[in-house]
Amino acid sequence: MKTPLIALMLLSFLSAPATSFAWGADGHQTVGAIAEAMLAGSKAGQKVKTLMGDSSLEKMSVWGDCVKGVSPEKEFSYTSAGKYPECVSFENAAGIAAMVDYVKRNHSNCNPAFDEESCHKQYHYADVSLAHDHYKTGFVGTSDHDIVNAIRAAVSVLQGKPQAKPFQFKDEREALALLTHYVGDIHQPLHVGSIFLDANGKIVNPDAGEYDRGSNTVGGNALQCPCGTLHALWDDIPQQFKRGRMNEALTKKAKMVAKPDASTSIEQWPAVWADGAIADAKTLFAGTQFSKSTPNQRGNSWSIALPLEYEKTMFTVKEDALTKAGAHLAQLLQAIWPD
Ligand SMILES: [Zn+2]
Repeated sequence: MKTPLIALMLLSFLSAPATSFAWGADGHQTVGAIAEAMLAGSKAGQKVKTLMGDSSLEKMSVWGDCVKGVSPEKEFSYTSAGKYPECVSFENAAGIAAMVDYVKRNHSNCNPAFDEESCHKQYHYADVSLAHDHYKTGFVGTSDHDIVNAIRAAVSVLQGKPQAKPFQFKDEREALALLTHYVGDIHQPLHVGSIFLDANGKIVNPDAGEYDRGSNTVGGNALQCPCGTLHALWDDIPQQFKRGRMNEALTKKAKMVAKPDASTSIEQWPAVWADGAIADAKTLFAGTQFSKSTPNQRGNSWSIALPLEYEKTMFTVKEDALTKAGAHLAQLLQAIWPD
């Protein structure tokens, strides 16, 4: 029934604009590069340089993902050497020791439930139902160690204040690398917004009535499209798109992104950004059709049919989100270390 739509969609992907706006390594590095360009000549820019030493926000932006190569199941050994080009610069003895140390500190400190992953992996997202227009800690899919609270904790470390539990960020350098990553992730709509579906593929509100854990589509990870999962589709864009080629154009746009008004405290900023991501997530689900669920080992999955010209929606939302992420990171660092 949905085949014609899907076929057309796949065809149109072949002619997608040749630009990279991914939240794979490319996207994170772009966010770091935009922030660095915006901070040039400022006190915050100087502080970043001091903390990063011979590295940079651009390079360290992916560290939060590279540490996922440390396997708690294999006695915390690093198991992805050589697998990801963006991680190679961390794969020396000292670099691996630093990643192992981080994961040991941040693996079970949040007391993960039986169906939850390692704590540090949970720092990268929330799964707020799109029945809401805003983020609030306490909603299904949020926690004291979700992405909003992870950003708050990293900011605390950079401000020289105690970090909230359960976070175990070692020092300013580690906090800054992770903050750069999380500010990228919080602008990926599916790292904040999630759709909750019943067995018939009907949208439900997990915060009304009894919550069925099986209804969570886990930020689109349980939604199958012809190209893989919806989450992966939004995280990644083919590698043939060269990293860095859009940085200058995006930085120009980023300079025009408005700062939050002075009445909004720094602590509120990540929640405001999360609200923006929820709005974007609503846009990316507009016109999507959902199948009945198929139970599998990890819960449920649903097939989806995306509307025509979906890559246009992706292009626009991704460009806008990456621009904002770079701008927001720079604004945040300037608020922490003002001129
Ligand atoms: Zn991430």
